[in-house]
Amino acid sequence: MVNFSHFDSVFALTSHFTSNEVCKDFLAQQRWGDDVVCPYCGQHHCYKCNDGRFLCPNRDCHKKFNSTVGTIFEASRIPLTKWFLAIYLISSHKKGISSHQLGRDISVTQKTAWFMLQKVRSCFAQDDSVALEGEVEIDEAYVGGDNKWRHEWKKKKHGQGGANKSAIFGMIQRDNGHVVAIHVPNTTKETIIPIINQFIEVNGTTIYTDESVIYKTLTKENGYKHFTCNHSLKEFKCWWCRYQ
Ligand SMILES: [Zn+2]
Repeated sequence: MVNFSHFDSVFALTSHFTSNEVCKDFLAQQRWGDDVVCPYCGQHHCYKCNDGRFLCPNRDCHKKFNSTVGTIFEASRIPLTKWFLAIYLISSHKKGISSHQLGRDISVTQKTAWFMLQKVRSCFAQDDSVALEGEVEIDEAYVGGDNKWRHEWKKKKHGQGGANKSAIFGMIQRDNGHVVAIHVPNTTKETIIPIINQFIEVNGTTIYTDESVIYKTLTKENGYKHFTCNHSLKEFKCWWCRYQ
């Protein structure tokens, strides 16, 4: 979540964030500082392009991205200037702000304001649980009608679990049992890697996964130590094998 602590009034905020470009630059500065990291593969030192986006220098990845990628602002049609003002207003109304009030304050419909409130609140809640570290186990699973966690879905590979199942990506820190579990639209590398980067501290962290190709980029290049475990052989290197 963006940090507006050095703006002490609505006036200070709105006089600074006069365009979406200013907002995007601020977002990039807050996320990465001077070393822009690719949200897809973890490559450092991404370049800024003329169109304001960033380009990953890793030849295998080479993706272009905005500073909004992986945030609540990504793919939103609501201008960043309104998002920023909304976040400021929501966080300064300690007792809560209604969607009607927020809608009037930032000139959007009540419905839009309600949607924004949900998004911003879910981020505030997530911020507390960020940064799993030490030894972290991660895995994806589809939760089916029978509500059981399964690994078998991987054998059905491209079926992606079927329409009535939703994918969950889970991360657990071994020493304290902290869990972050997130509903994901799919379990591709493009979806999963940014989530790992967001929730798992890079420095000194060891990640345990199965042998799925989506984890291949979790190498020393992006700072994680990475161990794999073949669940079907029951190698018992990980908790999934030991406790299932
Ligand atoms: Zn990349």
